[in-house]
Amino acid sequence: MKQHFLMEGVELVAVGEASLKEAQKRITGCAACSASASRSFQWLLGQVLGNTGMTEYFLSCSVQCPKCGTEVFENTRIDFDGKAKAALEEFTYFDVRDESQDVIFIDEPTLLQAQDFICACEHCSDRAEIPFDQLLDAMTGYDPATTEYVICHAAKCGTCRHDVMEKTLVVPR
Ligand SMILES: [Zn+2]
Ligand SMILES: [Zn+2]
Repeated sequence: MKQHFLMEGVELVAVGEASLKEAQKRITGCAACSASASRSFQWLLGQVLGNTGMTEYFLSCSVQCPKCGTEVFENTRIDFDGKAKAALEEFTYFDVRDESQDVIFIDEPTLLQAQDFICACEHCSDRAEIPFDQLLDAMTGYDPATTEYVICHAAKCGTCRHDVMEKTLVVPR
């Protein structure tokens, strides 16, 4: 059971006992017992109750951390179940790569150097069968198995001047 009040554009929600118990079940640790506690209890309430935006909560009864018994308030930092999933949903723009992968940024001088090795590309030659990033592997000496490249801008094919991106097939000199 929730009660709603409107105060200066901020929705104030009194969270009833049933909802608090529901939210409390998802707490796996708090600031007092977990170093990875990174979200406020209020944020978790937002997730559990499905509210977004300008919502403030106040607790109608006390909530304890199930792990250490410390009382949890609206702004107490907590750890919770489904953390990875919730974080993923919130940060859809966040680039989640395999942590074993190195991402190497190719700057202008390196790119121009690599561009000199492009004899032709998939747009102008049937013989293009090596992705441009393999050329970068050879140039930079990084391990192809664990390295991804991000180039500062498209390289140009020496023959047809077409854009060459990381995965464009090329013919090396
Ligand atoms: Zn705790
Ligand atoms: Zn070309």
